[in-house]
Amino acid sequence: MTIIIKTEEEIAAMRQAGRIVAMILKTIVEEIKPGMATKELDDIAARELKRHGAKSSFKGYRGFPANLCVSVNDEIVHGIPGKRVLREGDIVSLDFGAIYHGFQGDAALTVGVGRISKKAEALIETTNGALKAGIGAARAGGRLGDISHAIQNYAETRGYSVVREYTGHGIGRDMHEEPQIPNFGPPDSGPVLKRGMTLALEPMVNTGDWRTRVGDDQWTVMTADGSLSAHFEHTIAITDGEPEVLTKEVHA
Ligand code: MG
Repeated sequence: MTIIIKTEEEIAAMRQAGRIVAMILKTIVEEIKPGMATKELDDIAARELKRHGAKSSFKGYRGFPANLCVSVNDEIVHGIPGKRVLREGDIVSLDFGAIYHGFQGDAALTVGVGRISKKAEALIETTNGALKAGIGAARAGGRLGDISHAIQNYAETRGYSVVREYTGHGIGRDMHEEPQIPNFGPPDSGPVLKRGMTLALEPMVNTGDWRTRVGDDQWTVMTADGSLSAHFEHTIAITDGEPEVLTKEVHA
């Protein structure tokens, strides 16, 4: 397994890609409202990519037909934007990646459409918390399993399950580099984390069981039991101290 260590210059380029991803996701979130078709969210992504001079990481990837993954309610990841109309109370997971000057940024978040249930709110909060726990465990000298374990522990101690069949990943010039980053597993296991590693951490958390199934479109992944799912992701860089979140929007 080869984990590519990035130079300062390469991380600077990834910071730019990550910032574009964060800004575009923010724009999409601001425009979401009940009555919108999920395709309209993809149109915003396409428009904003063009405006920033960036390219979609997803469109054409293994034939994926859109710029943005839009996964609603029991859908976990890889939902294809289309005619589905968002309704008040839905939760929507948006996963988005962009390429800028040859480097990738990748991030995701789940948001509510209008007013949502307390149950959905708690799921979203827990999934975001699980990502933060994973980021908190991403320290040079520690090991990859520390991240996986922190995510799993955060979600499971709160009564949720983590999806096991899909993982986070290394990222850089390619969207998916080594290593795979499971959202579960024992601490103090796996490769040692080093400064300059760039990783996309992405817990997918369910209110029910962790098992998944793939829809008829061969892309959309959903919970096997129909329970709700949320997804949060950041691209981070391992440093000598706190990890740097590369997909965090820098406010002017
Ligand atoms: Mg990803």
